[in-house]
Amino acid sequence: MSARADDAAVIVVGGGHAGVEAALAAARLGVPTVLLTGDPQRVCTLACNPSIGGSAKGQLVREIDALGGAMARMTDRVSLHARFLNESKGPSVRALRVLADKPGYVRVAAETIAAQPGLTVVTGMGEDLVVEGGAVRAVVLAGGTTLRAPNVVLATGTFLGGKTFRGDEVRAEGRFGEPPAVGLSAALARLGLPLGRLKTGTPPRVDRTSLDLRATIVQPPSPAPLTFSYASPRAFAGEQLPCWIVETNERTHALVRENLHRSPLYGLDLIRGIGPRYCPSIEDKVVKFAHNPTHQVFVEPEGWDEPTFYIGGFSTSLPADVQLAMLRTLPGFSDVVMLRAGYAVEYDFVPPTELDASLETRRIAGLFHCGQLNGTSGYEEAAAQGLVAGINAARRAQGRDALRLSRASSYIGVMIDDLVTRGVDEPYRMLTSRAEHRVMLRHDNADLRLTPIGREIGLVDNAAWAAFEDRRDALDAGVRHAERTRVGSARIGRTVLQAGSTIADALRRPDIGAADVRTLLPAAIDDEVATRIEIEIKMEGYVRRGQAAVDRAARDEAVAVPADLDFDAVTALSREGREKLGRVRPRTLGAAARIPGITPTDVALLGVHLHRRTLAAASSA
Ligand SMILES: Cc1cc2nc3c(=O)[nH]c(=O)nc-3n(C[C@H](O)[C@H](O)[C@H](O)COP(=O)(O)OP(=O)(O)OC[C@H]3O[C@@H](n4cnc5c(N)ncnc54)[C@H](O)[C@@H]3O)c2cc1C
Repeated sequence: MSARADDAAVIVVGGGHAGVEAALAAARLGVPTVLLTGDPQRVCTLACNPSIGGSAKGQLVREIDALGGAMARMTDRVSLHARFLNESKGPSVRALRVLADKPGYVRVAAETIAAQPGLTVVTGMGEDLVVEGGAVRAVVLAGGTTLRAPNVVLATGTFLGGKTFRGDEVRAEGRFGEPPAVGLSAALARLGLPLGRLKTGTPPRVDRTSLDLRATIVQPPSPAPLTFSYASPRAFAGEQLPCWIVETNERTHALVRENLHRSPLYGLDLIRGIGPRYCPSIEDKVVKFAHNPTHQVFVEPEGWDEPTFYIGGFSTSLPADVQLAMLRTLPGFSDVVMLRAGYAVEYDFVPPTELDASLETRRIAGLFHCGQLNGTSGYEEAAAQGLVAGINAARRAQGRDALRLSRASSYIGVMIDDLVTRGVDEPYRMLTSRAEHRVMLRHDNADLRLTPIGREIGLVDNAAWAAFEDRRDALDAGVRHAERTRVGSARIGRTVLQAGSTIADALRRPDIGAADVRTLLPAAIDDEVATRIEIEIKMEGYVRRGQAAVDRAARDEAVAVPADLDFDAVTALSREGREKLGRVRPRTLGAAARIPGITPTDVALLGVHLHRRTLAAASSA
């Protein structure tokens, strides 16, 4: 074991999307960090879809970047198909989606880790935890080696008690061909942490040369270079490839129905874990949405030089022979060669209501959980939690207060608050509908919301901060210029502007965009800032109203609930209210109000109790 591994202040267990962000963040904050992972050759494996971003997830990637995390920059270096989703809809739901070269992403992640001072990679599986006096002290590896550190971040993904399923084939695996983590589940249970079971699945991969793509609908990438990171050069790193869409048909669905008795989800009844509602298997789609005659299937390259196409929307755990027969029913797939059959994976998770919003467990000091272990699904959700857990493990090591992001600040704040106050009963994925302040939490303005926070905590370096200040100043100046500069009576496109109209008046019209007034804006402004000026002006009214809601919510967030409050002693509360509040232990009155089953009356009574307590404390002081 290297000496540096013995000196760690933070150990991160698991080199997936959550663990890598956590380890990079902790090390960048100046804390000696160990990343313990089963196979360092497979860090940040994209186990399922090659896609990063998309609706709501794209906002998460931008927020990770704005705070100083790695996912956006790593993705931009291997982007092979980038496209903005929801371009015809409002700016609050617009988001970038990128398909990454899968082996390239793993390579870039490994390079990023190797280049990070203060970060040591240890190969091995964490099997047990040493806890003394209610605080974590060490991780015990398979083979008996002990790694000591007062802060441990668990980011074990789908590996805890992992089992994979394909027909009646059941294997102990965390992912295809990789052994599960077995001891750690028992260790967590022994330490009093409850465990649940969830499930996810992946579709078959096919030989890219075996399809007749003329029978499909082509989905081209964006012709204009699109990148996630504010710091990435505005250029594509490599060739952009198309994707294709086909549809299932009655023959596909008949095969699913005829073979349900061979499905581990249905007839064989082998899978107990609950699967993701927003990413159902093809079996689930055919059974639960029987009225739909077709379902869309996405054919996506997995890399520039990969022999495979990923068959999105076709996740299945039916036996391999049935999968092949089903594929052959798709248009252009009559000669398809299946290179790897789909499968389902079932794994243990720890209910995230066990966590504080810092992602530290409430039972064991210094133990943090992030990623799929918390019941979420998706690379972006995992990476975002990893970043917060890594920051907070490092801050704890440095004796600093934890970073807790509010719901008004970010999708990351919404996700963590949902997890710790509401918990999960199915794999949690980020959706724009989960964010009540989504008009403020846009893809375009993640830097305005979070880069000052990233700077304050020490993750945004001088160069990134200077670039941010230039962007923010150019945006402010551009908006002021647009508000003040009159264009007179003019025709822009089909719109005739009244005499005395300003550029901002023009931009408030739904049919006029930044490109239409580009020549009227300061020449020094680049296209991205010009688009942001348009969005700021178009959204101004919504944002003003949104801010009023944020201010209202902030009042309840400002009322702290003491960590030692005995809810049972607040007898005015309903019995259910006392029980739920005691279990979740919200940190603020606002968080109490969001716990499912807590009534407005409970919230009002709790507010009165807290107010009286404050008055009593003041008078006795
Ligand atoms: C079959 C399959 C299908 C999926 N389908 C979807 C989908 O349709 N949609 C979607 O959004 N997401 C899907 N995912 C989930 C997606 O892969 C995860 O959400 C994401 O990778 C979670 O990131 P993570 O960092 O939490 O864990 P992972 O990416 O799983 O990484 C965990 C890492 O921890 C390491 N590890 C685990 N235990 C230990 C230990 N005890 N000691 C040391 N190292 C350990 C592993 O080697 C691995 O490197 C799927 C995953 C799988 C496996």
